[in-house]
Amino acid sequence: MSSLFQTYARYPLAFVKGQGSWLWDDKGNKYLDFMSGLAVTNLGHAPKKVSDKLKEQIDTLWHTSNLFIVPKQEEAAQKLAEVAQADAVFFCNSGAEANEAAIKLARRYFQKVKGEERYEIVTLGKSFHGRTLATLTATGQDKVKEGFLPLPAGFVTVPPNDIRAIEDAVNERTAAVMIEMVQAEGGVYPLDETYAKQIEQLCRDKGILLIVDEVQTGMGRTGAWFAHHRYGLKPDIFTVAKGVASGFPAGAMLGREYLKEAFIAGSHATTFGGTPLASSAIIATIETMQEDDLPQHAAKIGELLAGELRKELGDHPFVQEVRGLGLLIGIECTGPVGDLVLEGQKRGLLFVTAGPNVIRLLPNLYVSEEEVHQAVNLLTSIIQEKVPTHSV
Ligand SMILES: *Cc1c(COP(=O)(O)O)cnc(C)c1O
Repeated sequence: MSSLFQTYARYPLAFVKGQGSWLWDDKGNKYLDFMSGLAVTNLGHAPKKVSDKLKEQIDTLWHTSNLFIVPKQEEAAQKLAEVAQADAVFFCNSGAEANEAAIKLARRYFQKVKGEERYEIVTLGKSFHGRTLATLTATGQDKVKEGFLPLPAGFVTVPPNDIRAIEDAVNERTAAVMIEMVQAEGGVYPLDETYAKQIEQLCRDKGILLIVDEVQTGMGRTGAWFAHHRYGLKPDIFTVAKGVASGFPAGAMLGREYLKEAFIAGSHATTFGGTPLASSAIIATIETMQEDDLPQHAAKIGELLAGELRKELGDHPFVQEVRGLGLLIGIECTGPVGDLVLEGQKRGLLFVTAGPNVIRLLPNLYVSEEEVHQAVNLLTSIIQEKVPTHSV
């Protein structure tokens, strides 16, 4: 009997080793990993440069406190701000915590700097922003809210792809609109470009903040350092976590210069944010990505993957659409795909779902052309052999 709260429906697989795109289980079986720990191990498993830097840091210094200057944290902030084109960084430990910081910063900016009683955050249906009370309230999916009443006030969710719905929701209490550039958990829906631009313009016109949740899209996955770069947006605040430190737990909230005065000493804090260890992992991740021009590679190999999937599966009656951005790809099917995930595991290919009918592929950003072909071949044979065409 496990001593854990049973909060996860776990697959009966236990991995004990990983290298690059590959994982090994406790029975010695090998798997091609096209989920990357849910968009976390973006540099593959045990990336050498990050692991070397972490080992060095482990022998030097783990933790002091944010009561002191943390030189590695300063360095990580500078590097992250540079590649993200942001002005200020707050380090934390997870995506939900980064989004909490974003929500708090937006509220405090209006209430303390602008002297306006604005607090409401408008979010989109199908969105996912985390599991803390505030971020699950912000999330546009009812299933994460069940049994957790009362929910905090100050959140409004509107249907996606309807700019009028946002216009109608914005009022004198609105502080921000919060979006994902690709709704990943919700089914891998990249936001329509015109709609995204309209949201930004609306925020400018109304004098409210645009928050972009880049927790899953962040750091190279979509073929740019951040997905909003591909859309040409300039959010006031954005967040990152999953891929920011190659699997070391870390998150960050980034913002523009004018927001700096909203957070002063004592406004917000977290014990483990930006420790020398976490900061080393972040620095090494960014340096590695820069050296290898990884966002560029992700864009190129992402196109190959989406193209191959369309070529091999586009005509199959079970497959409705292949969509995504860079190496965040969804395959919308006409029926449930849960069993295909299990079949993949049997055949040595790991992938996940995004909602009941969508297969989600999240390979690491170094994935090779050969591995892409291997995965597409496996997935194609699984769908051809396991989905009886008469049932679709
Ligand atoms: C995973 C995810 C989160 C939550 O991140 P945690 O680290 O699990 O708290 C928030 N937003 C998006 C878009 C995510 O994909």
